[in-house]
Amino acid sequence: MKPIIAITACAEDDLSSRLNKAYSKSVLDAGGIPIIIPLDVEADVEQILAISDGLLLSGGHDVHPFHFGAEPSPKLGQIYPERDAVELALTNAAITRKMPIFGICRGIQLLNVALGGTLYQDIETEFKSRNLLKHTQQAARGVATHYVTIGHDNVLMDIIEQGQIGVNSYHHQAINVLAQKLLVAAKSSDGIIEAVVHESLPFCLAVQWHPEEQALAGDDIAKKLFKAFVDASMKFKRES
Ligand code: MN
Repeated sequence: MKPIIAITACAEDDLSSRLNKAYSKSVLDAGGIPIIIPLDVEADVEQILAISDGLLLSGGHDVHPFHFGAEPSPKLGQIYPERDAVELALTNAAITRKMPIFGICRGIQLLNVALGGTLYQDIETEFKSRNLLKHTQQAARGVATHYVTIGHDNVLMDIIEQGQIGVNSYHHQAINVLAQKLLVAAKSSDGIIEAVVHESLPFCLAVQWHPEEQALAGDDIAKKLFKAFVDASMKFKRES
């Protein structure tokens, strides 16, 4: 038996649900079965999670600032309240079940907001740093363009086993006020939070970069992240 990984879909303009192949391929290669969760299922998240073993929050558009007590900055990008609704419901339900969660890009932002934190709506205009890096790279999706430094004593360090790695970067939002129950696991040199872990859940990890694209390009560290998540989901399946 393989663990079933529920992956949230990206919303399109007509509210169709779609998913880049890199997510499903990375889950498959790590030994899991990916299923894509579309929009409009927020009333049924308990039943969906009852047949799932892990939750993968995928990348995509901006989170509506109402969810973290803010009004829209002029640099806020496209938002889809329908996607926020289903992902917040899934995340809260998965946390209650202590189900493994892996957040990617928008996923780290969504997790932080679900737990009461806030976001920079646009880091170039809101994040004060003299050495701000380019976080919206123009290089191909699998190419690492900036480094992150990984802290000690967290699950990310346990998986990666090295203090600094190169990552890709496709975000103009980032964590501002960190949710109380999250801990910083990695930062870029300009001070942006690039990875978090939950203080007490067995596996709840989120990263600001796109390991699924790096895995697709053959990156072994990115593959290790998916393996750790799918393995944790298998453990959850056996024990629940
Ligand atoms: Mn970045």
